[in-house]
Amino acid sequence: MTTAKALIDLRSDTVTLPCKGMRKAMHEAALGDDVYGEDPTVRKLEETLAAMTGKEAGLFLPTGTQSNLCALMAHCERGDEYVAGQMAHLYRYEGGGAAVLGGIQPQPIENSADGSLELSLVADVIKPLDFHFARTRLLCLENTMQGRVLPLCYLQALKPFAQTHGLQLHLDGARIFNAAIACGTSLPELTHMFDSVSICLSKGLGAPAGSVLVGHSSVIATARRWRKVLGGGMRQSGVLAAAGLYALRHNVDRLAEDHARARRLGDGLRALGLTVEPLQTNMVYANCSEFDLSRLSERLLARGVMINPASRLRLVTHLGIDDEAVEKVLLAFQGSI
Ligand SMILES: *Cc1c(COP(=O)(O)O)cnc(C)c1O
Repeated sequence: MTTAKALIDLRSDTVTLPCKGMRKAMHEAALGDDVYGEDPTVRKLEETLAAMTGKEAGLFLPTGTQSNLCALMAHCERGDEYVAGQMAHLYRYEGGGAAVLGGIQPQPIENSADGSLELSLVADVIKPLDFHFARTRLLCLENTMQGRVLPLCYLQALKPFAQTHGLQLHLDGARIFNAAIACGTSLPELTHMFDSVSICLSKGLGAPAGSVLVGHSSVIATARRWRKVLGGGMRQSGVLAAAGLYALRHNVDRLAEDHARARRLGDGLRALGLTVEPLQTNMVYANCSEFDLSRLSERLLARGVMINPASRLRLVTHLGIDDEAVEKVLLAFQGSI
């Protein structure tokens, strides 16, 4: 915790470092060869998250990208198609993996302002059963979506819609715990309608690596095969799973602090005259289109604050950002804009 301590890093909640307690849990983890299904800590993590989300089974993977890809490949075959938002992480930021490695065609559509996909627009792009077309098999959503929580009433409409159209449902729930904390709901309320859900441990939960895919046992069994094919079968990965279990015990409820600090940061930036989007979780989006961005990020860095320069600037609160850091960030902005 040496270099990261000096700088206040707002680029992402992936920059968190494992705390002492988490490192101790990793050190003491019971281990085995997980490709043989013999790592007790990995099994426990998979079972724990499956139970927490009300699903039959879980699968531990090295990254969220591989978790989404295994899910897509479990739901779709070569020549099939998935529908996702233009802004969906799994469509936009994962190297086109489903097309490259799965032969699965994406059908992107515009996201609504709240991050959802309007179901009439989804219905419009579903292809008829005809050999001219790819077979539309899967609808993918993301929660939280750029820090926004999908509305509960929207989630409730998904299952009947998917049944009517013969679609499977996948959720990229990288930050699903942020969503549950923000709307005060249980996890199953946000996940029961989905056939598979991918959850990141290495974001706000503070683990060094790892994601868990949960879902029906048949989907998870197929995803397990694809994980091996993609090179994601790890051996004594209980070292990492132990960090995940620690995170589930210690770092879920505290996400509320990240959300409160994001609100404080957003309010403070508005008070400095910036336009800040309404926010619900740990992401603050501020309009910085009027600034010279490289100059802004240099001036902030000189004041100990690290950002990813962008005209729609995203600032993310996390385990490494306390109340004092938020005030320092606001002073740094005051001196830099
Ligand atoms: C980070 C992230 C992923 C991918 O996770 P990696 O572990 O970085 O591969 C997927 N979806 C969303 C929404 C994410 O934020």
